[in-house]
Amino acid sequence: MHHLAQGVQRFRQDVFPRRAELFERLATTHEPGALFIGCSDARVVPELITQREPGELFVIRTAGNLVPAYTPGPDAVAAGVEYAVGVLGVADIIVCGHSACGAMTALAEGQDLAALPAVADWLRHADAARARTARNEEAAEPYDKVAALVRGNVAAQLANLATHPSVARALARDAVRLHGWVFDIGSGTVEELDAGRGRFAALPAA
Ligand code: ZN
Repeated sequence: MHHLAQGVQRFRQDVFPRRAELFERLATTHEPGALFIGCSDARVVPELITQREPGELFVIRTAGNLVPAYTPGPDAVAAGVEYAVGVLGVADIIVCGHSACGAMTALAEGQDLAALPAVADWLRHADAARARTARNEEAAEPYDKVAALVRGNVAAQLANLATHPSVARALARDAVRLHGWVFDIGSGTVEELDAGRGRFAALPAA
């Protein structure tokens, strides 16, 4: 904990003064251009990966970057999505999976989650992802189960995202674009889902 307090002190002394103008503007405006839905994994830092400044990304992070399909009732993810799309009017939504994801590894390897009932329940939101990738398990060529599930899960969560009324409305008006990414921790590279072809390829440079 000590190093966190030291970090705050260093931020206030060294970083904040240099960025005072930015924070002065942000004190009264909140206009992020994108909603980034990533995994809670400590190694996947949205602003670092995308080189965005404070104020530019509205971020939701969940275990396994899961977005439950819309159901009425209290739901932190649904509330965040609704606010980002309906109020802030983000133009892009990124669902970002990553290599070596603990949640996807647990599912791909069929780990015993009896001692983690909350995790086990939460990961049910990846059932569609497991169904999407299950058929590949019969393929003859060797393949990386975890990597396949990470990718299948991004596609499944994009489908879940589209069940949220705010997203469905924005999609119908062409007011939002959905993107599926996978971040590779070891190489720092990002692959993007080509929804039309159902395949991931290197994120093209803008
Ligand atoms: Zn993860």
